[in-house]
Amino acid sequence: MVLHEHLDINEKGHLTIGGADTVELAKKHGTPLYVLDENVIRKQCRTYREAAIRCFGEDALPLYASKALCFTGIYKLAAEEGMGIDCVSGGELYTAKKAGFPAERIYFHGNNKTDRDISDAMDMGVGTFVVDNPDELSAVSAEAVRRGITQRILLRITPGIDPHTHRAVVTGNVDSKFGNAIVTGQAMDIVKKAIATDGVDLVGLHCHIGSQIFDIDPFADAAKIMTEFMARIKSECGYEIRELNLGGGLGVRYTEYDRDIDYAACIKDIAEVVSGLCEKNGIRMPRVILEPGRSLVAAAGITLYTVGGVKEIPGFKNYISVDGGMPDNPRYALYQSQYTALIANRANAPRDFRATLAGRCCESGDLLGENMEIQHAERGDTLAVLVTGAYNYSMASNYNRIPRPPVVMIRDGEDKVVVKRETYEDLTRNDIF
Ligand SMILES: *Cc1c(COP(=O)(O)O)cnc(C)c1O
Repeated sequence: MVLHEHLDINEKGHLTIGGADTVELAKKHGTPLYVLDENVIRKQCRTYREAAIRCFGEDALPLYASKALCFTGIYKLAAEEGMGIDCVSGGELYTAKKAGFPAERIYFHGNNKTDRDISDAMDMGVGTFVVDNPDELSAVSAEAVRRGITQRILLRITPGIDPHTHRAVVTGNVDSKFGNAIVTGQAMDIVKKAIATDGVDLVGLHCHIGSQIFDIDPFADAAKIMTEFMARIKSECGYEIRELNLGGGLGVRYTEYDRDIDYAACIKDIAEVVSGLCEKNGIRMPRVILEPGRSLVAAAGITLYTVGGVKEIPGFKNYISVDGGMPDNPRYALYQSQYTALIANRANAPRDFRATLAGRCCESGDLLGENMEIQHAERGDTLAVLVTGAYNYSMASNYNRIPRPPVVMIRDGEDKVVVKRETYEDLTRNDIF
């Protein structure tokens, strides 16, 4: 059960990624180890870009929501593939700048941009700010006016949709910490304020309804609410919204129980829905923007661990302990995210064992999964967790003073370290007493 076509099992019975033997990779680079298949990321970027251009025209710009996986190399890759990016912090902006990412193709998100963030982003020439709230609108406007510039902005709108996904990743609800709700009248208030505010050019609206969404119905619902709102802005304010950003959120196959998604077909369906709604509401088709994160990078990545031991508690459960855990992948601890795991050096063996995958932290909740179907394991085995390209490295911490693993990228069967393993020295670098 290897889920995706870049993963396979070779004649030795070892799991391979992009043609590289994972057992060899673990030996060469040590564990825990993040491995990414570069070709898969590039292919996904092309799928999104080609579909977006086909459906929305030459000026379509899919954005990579870079919080999913952030280091300089990924921004270089996104730039080469003609993507825009979405950044949510000064640190992400700084990393993108270091990678030489073209600033005009950056959308700056986040629900609390500090004065320093705003100023740094304007120093960089960030193309578009996605303004979250009226206080932030005032701050962005003040800084732009001080500099004598006009900043392109989108406003973050809360359409009030529950995309039937996990609550912790639902952000489109009315009581969300993000954005301005239409039903409370706050969305129209901030639109009117933005139109009347100096130093900003209101080009469009943004919404993001959630994550791990497997059909386009929630996007169609969002598009309906947003285009109706655009029509109201046109009639009440005589103002035309030129850009509609429908956010990210398309799902990824993490386990055999998840469907596979035809991303190009989804984009085409979304485009048809938006175009029909614009016609119905008597507004011009805006530039439509999608900003996938997870679906660009998740499947490309796996994490390799070394098994430290197996504990069978008769009548209760079995544990397989690995040399990583919540510091490199906090997603199970945070939202019980489901993963597929296998013993990489016996990938063909039957998965006839049930175990909880335990991390090495002093925390009972430090688990990578419970009651997982896997092969029998023993100390020294290489264990692979699949589909860890998104929200793993980017969410990693140094809890228990555990250094972050390196990231190795596979290109055409060759492996290349793109992020070094942290050292103990790195951990104490900022300790000055
Ligand atoms: C997280 C996020 C995304 C990406 O979501 P995915 O589920 O990773 O595709 C896009 N836009 C915004 C505003 C986000 O917060």
